[in-house]
Amino acid sequence: MILADVEGAKYNVHFHYCIYDGKRTTFCTIHRFPCLAKMRPCGTIPAATGHAECSHRDEFRKSTGRKIALARAMKILGIPRPKRAEIWTSYLSKVNGT
Ligand SMILES: [Zn+2]
Repeated sequence: MILADVEGAKYNVHFHYCIYDGKRTTFCTIHRFPCLAKMRPCGTIPAATGHAECSHRDEFRKSTGRKIALARAMKILGIPRPKRAEIWTSYLSKVNGT
């Protein structure tokens, strides 16, 4: 999905899921420029990937894994906190269809 901040800068965000070390894991990749390739991972540089592992005690929920992984990816990419808040607004409006 493509998210935008209030100034209209675009962020490409993808999610994928797999079993990692026996746990259901959500990966989120974020980068500023368009995808280098249509495959996943798309190979675009620079990009940051955050992940969230679901512990065996917790019920797996895609929405929860996506939020944790996206938060980590934005931190890794070094997006400042106020910008991250704008991107969250963009994410939530896409996910909730508002
Ligand atoms: Zn990409």
